[in-house]
Amino acid sequence: MQPIVDCHKSDSSTTRTKIVCTLTPQRADEATLRQLVEAGMDVVRVNFSHMSVGDADPMLEAIARVRAEMNIPLAVLLDTKGPEVRIFGFAEPVELKRGDRIIIHSYIDDDIEESIAPAEKRFHTNLHNVGKLVEKGARVLLMDGYIEGNVIGREPDAIEVEINNDGCLRPRAHLSLPGVDYPLPFLSQKDAEDIRYAVRAGFDYLALSFVRTAEDIFQVKHLIRETDANSSIRIIAKIESKQAIEHLDAIIQYSDGVMVARGDLGVELDLEDVPIMQKRIIEQCYLSGKPVITATQMLESMIHNRVPNRAEVSDVANACYDLTSAVMLSGETAIGDHPNLVVSTMDRIIRRVESSFDYESMLMRHKEKVQTRDLTTIIGYNAVSTAYQCKASALVVFSKSGYSARMISKLRPHLPILAFTPDEKVYHQLSLNWGVFPRTVPDMIDFEQMVTYALDVAEDEGLVKRGDLVVIVAGLPLGKRGTTNMIRVESVGKNRLPGRVLHGGEVTSSIVHVETDADLEHKGIAGCIVVLGHFEKSFTTSLRYASGIISPNDEFAGDLEVLGMAYSIPVIVGVRNADTLLPEGVTVRIDSENELVIEV
Ligand code: PEP
Repeated sequence: MQPIVDCHKSDSSTTRTKIVCTLTPQRADEATLRQLVEAGMDVVRVNFSHMSVGDADPMLEAIARVRAEMNIPLAVLLDTKGPEVRIFGFAEPVELKRGDRIIIHSYIDDDIEESIAPAEKRFHTNLHNVGKLVEKGARVLLMDGYIEGNVIGREPDAIEVEINNDGCLRPRAHLSLPGVDYPLPFLSQKDAEDIRYAVRAGFDYLALSFVRTAEDIFQVKHLIRETDANSSIRIIAKIESKQAIEHLDAIIQYSDGVMVARGDLGVELDLEDVPIMQKRIIEQCYLSGKPVITATQMLESMIHNRVPNRAEVSDVANACYDLTSAVMLSGETAIGDHPNLVVSTMDRIIRRVESSFDYESMLMRHKEKVQTRDLTTIIGYNAVSTAYQCKASALVVFSKSGYSARMISKLRPHLPILAFTPDEKVYHQLSLNWGVFPRTVPDMIDFEQMVTYALDVAEDEGLVKRGDLVVIVAGLPLGKRGTTNMIRVESVGKNRLPGRVLHGGEVTSSIVHVETDADLEHKGIAGCIVVLGHFEKSFTTSLRYASGIISPNDEFAGDLEVLGMAYSIPVIVGVRNADTLLPEGVTVRIDSENELVIEV
């Protein structure tokens, strides 16, 4: 049990633990998307088990418009069908009774919906030599385990199954033979087409159903590279089979994240093993710095009800306590009666956990385990420690590829991680990562301008306020991937104005504004830093008593350079809006090395 503490709570609109919502084309119009984002949605999941290439185009267009209108990061994930095992050969639902005996034949062509009368209780499966895969007595699960049976007879290409409970078998239902490694190729033609589509259409994430080994991931990476060598789509491996659990380490290592797909996992494993595996997978992902999504039946009863049951509330809360990166809604948002209410309910549960969890103590407990020798993690760990020690209000990360932001997310700090990236795709992808609040930053600006920009954005959005401390993490030179090497502590609200130094030197003093000869005569400029609104040659004699000169433009650069050299006074020009941003009397420092005027 975690001690209850009064944590900092950012005013940001999103939770630290992110919310993934499954949507269908019918549920993805602009108005619905906007409402779901307002309720707390961070990622849209599109399930291609039930869709084909092109079906998602209108959704993607609506998502693009909502992203732009609301100016928000919102990731889009395509979930593949995967090498599913199905039972087919009938077009209408079939009533099965306890004690019924059914025959399931291996059949290669799964396009024979109506060739067999359901009354005969003879079905087909896409598994070759099904009789060679199971022993007599083996369990057979139909429709995600809602109908159960046992093998009572077998031939190489058929099994006879006795049904243990009544149920209505839907066409093309799932067939599961728990513990069997299904001899199916990982990539069907449909999956390959869908993956190529995901890459071309600009999806941010690709969730791979029924991943069994790291080899499956390599195959997909190869296909992605073939489709677009520059694609930066990220791969989420769905853990939903015994084989995937056996190869978990390698799967986590070679994917960009993982989903605990509890629906199929609960069919392929004994149900009581699922919570244990969930905890193990989340912990391993947390320690590896990979995002992990906890999925399926989280608020299932809300498909029809307006209030979740108590066990569901605890399920969502416990996944947050276990440090999952995200929680997922499936039918609740895809077909449910109250999609907005479900998302806002999940949002409320998460916020309550996050306001009561002592993330700092948790990090201290895990500090040996989370630290690796990777430089980004070392810098990240020290940035978070510094932020806790100086009671900073936020962490600001400049991250081109998103890697540094993800490494800080790994540490689960309670401070918001404001990740600034010039890359549009990274901006949306980071909305899946725990605690990361992605923001864009213009490319090609220098580091000091970036700091000013980031602090202004954070202040404007109410994430930090004047006087707060912010810990900044970056890699210099900027824009180069994998160079995280800098931590800096900044205070919010002080002007930091870039300019062009004509004559160097460090000086700190108070500001005096000069426009006319009269100003020079009546205002005491000796020892002060002068902001020159205008310049005349006649000013030169008096200006030698100034300790520094700032000009908002470049107009008098030639004269001011000579003046600076003649009297050894630091001169900086092109300091835009210096006349309005630096009022008389404020103390500033001319930082010639960084070509900045800094309010102190
Ligand atoms: C699951 O099995 O839990 C899951 C998320 O996958 P799908 O919804 O594709 O069955």
